[in-house]
Amino acid sequence: MNSSGREKIGFVGLGAMGRPMARNIAAKGHELTVFDVRAEAMAPLVQAGATAAASLAELARDCDIIFTMLPNSPDVEAVVLGPGGIAEHARRDTLIVDMSTIDPAATDRLASALRDRGLGFVDAPVGRTVTQAEKGESLFMVGARDNDLGRVRGALEAMGTTIHHCGGPGSGIRTKLVNNFLAIATCQLSAEAMALAQAFGLDPKITLDVVNGTTATNGHLKIMWPIKVLSGDTNPGFRIALAHKDLALAMQAASEFGVPAFMGAAAREALSLAKKSGDYGGRDFSALLDLACEQAGVGKVRVK
Ligand code: NAD
Repeated sequence: MNSSGREKIGFVGLGAMGRPMARNIAAKGHELTVFDVRAEAMAPLVQAGATAAASLAELARDCDIIFTMLPNSPDVEAVVLGPGGIAEHARRDTLIVDMSTIDPAATDRLASALRDRGLGFVDAPVGRTVTQAEKGESLFMVGARDNDLGRVRGALEAMGTTIHHCGGPGSGIRTKLVNNFLAIATCQLSAEAMALAQAFGLDPKITLDVVNGTTATNGHLKIMWPIKVLSGDTNPGFRIALAHKDLALAMQAASEFGVPAFMGAAAREALSLAKKSGDYGGRDFSALLDLACEQAGVGKVRVK
């Protein structure tokens, strides 16, 4: 803690994301110490008022809350738990906040190993991109005990505009994986659909106007599911059997026009099976969620 009673902050990993995020912490008047294996990455932060640590050990000894923003699981585990790392040198009650996107199993190992040493752990992976990080408009998916979130909230607010408390440690990184699964898979799906529009010779602007005004651009999650499957109503609506017919027509056209549609073909196969599973063929196509949960052996998703 510094002389004004504020916790001292450490930041490890000053790359594309870490550099602007750390700069925003310094800009909001927090006392900040930084470390990166690339010495040159620390210089702009020193100019912004931060102190460059000579080693992880030095940073760990000096800080109350330590953020890590590193490439992948082995990097975070080495920096936090490895020889000469943060856990070895941190004071009791230091809070380590990992914002990297890593394997949730590694997150669980970190949380448990740090708890055993009397240290706190929060996972707070970041939504949005470098552009928002530069502007201090990041989104955080936080897995934390209430107390620990209270300790880091000020620094998170310095770096971002949106904080979602997803649950205890480990829930932030799992939310991030769900988010990125959807964001990346729909990116591929959108690419296939727009390539088909191009092969058809359609005007892309008009096509975009159409798909942006229907459930096509994932209005499922925002518009239709809340009033259908998520509230327990799977009466049609638009039957799975008809959805299968429409998707099969689109895939037939894609094949005729030589447009590869990997995601579309996989979805057609899933709907083909759904049509034959119990009474699903006659249910609203939002009931694909119920079937996916049934196949995963988990309970149905219902949101009040
Ligand atoms: P980056 O590769 O640009 O930065 C990583 C930084 O960590 C580098 O400066 C590197 O020198 C430093 N580093 C590596 N090993 C280190 C060690 N042992 N000790 C100290 N410093 C070390 O990566 P990034 O784009 O900033 O991403 C960081 C994390 O955030 C990743 O997990 C990424 O998946 C995630 N993420 C990235 C974005 C994005 O748009 N780039 C968005 C959200 C989340």
